[in-house]
Amino acid sequence: MRRGHLFIVSGPSGAGKGTLVKAVLGRVPDLWVSISATTRAPRPGEHEGIHYFFLTAEEFAKRVAAGEFLEHAEVHGNRYGTLRGPVERRMRAGMDVILEIDPQGAGQVKSAMPGSVLMFVKTPTWDELRRRLEGRGSETPEQVETRLRTAETELALEGMYEHVIMNDDVSRAADELAAVIRSHAEE
Ligand code: ADP
Ligand code: 5GP
Repeated sequence: MRRGHLFIVSGPSGAGKGTLVKAVLGRVPDLWVSISATTRAPRPGEHEGIHYFFLTAEEFAKRVAAGEFLEHAEVHGNRYGTLRGPVERRMRAGMDVILEIDPQGAGQVKSAMPGSVLMFVKTPTWDELRRRLEGRGSETPEQVETRLRTAETELALEGMYEHVIMNDDVSRAADELAAVIRSHAEE
């Protein structure tokens, strides 16, 4: 059976990764989006096992030591990681898998699985990134500033990615992302 492909969607917080991935699911059938583990607290409306697996710092460290993570990184003061088992199972069953992770994690996955496809989502301008982060309303003003500081470093890593998706318009950018995924369908 054909092994599934691994697609990584990365880029600054607030660029629109989650929005685009959701839109792509309506365009490409049989895609599975990995659910990450994190030590950060759930936001209102977030649920265990749907948005993230919410772990204590101790549980997270234990699973790192047990080698359960395909990649993991510290982002904005919290730990995030992709559990290897569920991703491997889907890919072995022939499903394409999407990881929505930060650039540190993207680099780790590319080293471990060179066949994975790296996509970077960005906004047309810096001001637009700030507007989207502020407009989302899910972070405090301090958390917005932390994300913007991290974004400066992340934007410098754009060169590592095979595909750079400019998220100017959700529908257009989702079409572009879906086209990249479809272009690997026959491999
Ligand atoms: P990320 O997952 O990268 O952190 P989100 O998908 O949460 O980003 O998007 C951040 C905010 O920007 C959300 O409020 C979302 O509705 C908005 N947004 C996403 N894409 C666009 C776009 N193309 N134009 C305007 N607003 C957008
Ligand atoms: P948030 O806390 O806003 O949900 O996510 C913050 C950042 O963590 C985002 O940039 C997101 O891409 C990143 N992230 C989410 N899950 C993972 C993961 O499993 N691994 C890594 N390396 N980063 C992740």
